[in-house]
Amino acid sequence: MELINSIPLVHIRARRIEIEKKTVSRMIGMYCRGKHGNKQELCSDCDQLHTYAMQRLDHCVFGNEKPFCSACPVHCYKKSMRERIKEVMQYAGPRMLYTHPGLAIMHMFARFSKPQPPKKK
Ligand SMILES: [Zn+2]
Repeated sequence: MELINSIPLVHIRARRIEIEKKTVSRMIGMYCRGKHGNKQELCSDCDQLHTYAMQRLDHCVFGNEKPFCSACPVHCYKKSMRERIKEVMQYAGPRMLYTHPGLAIMHMFARFSKPQPPKKK
């Protein structure tokens, strides 16, 4: 705790894009391994999606002030890519919770999954 509190906030902000890039890369890797059976490298489809996701992050209008993509008000993914990344999130999300638990991941997955039905009163 001591250590976390001593990291200046600006430093954490600067790493947001990095963290999100790593998370997305890992999830696409997991998806490709599980769905397409590629052990080492991504297949061309997944590689394309990965490149696209990295570009979106590089060009994010919010820069390091960005919220997590899934919570972002600007939907910068074009429709076809959005469908694909959603599939990746839905596949890799629950698996990530076991292998790489973390608030960021849970947050991303929660927002990318289907909208919550309204709570019954
Ligand atoms: Zn693949």
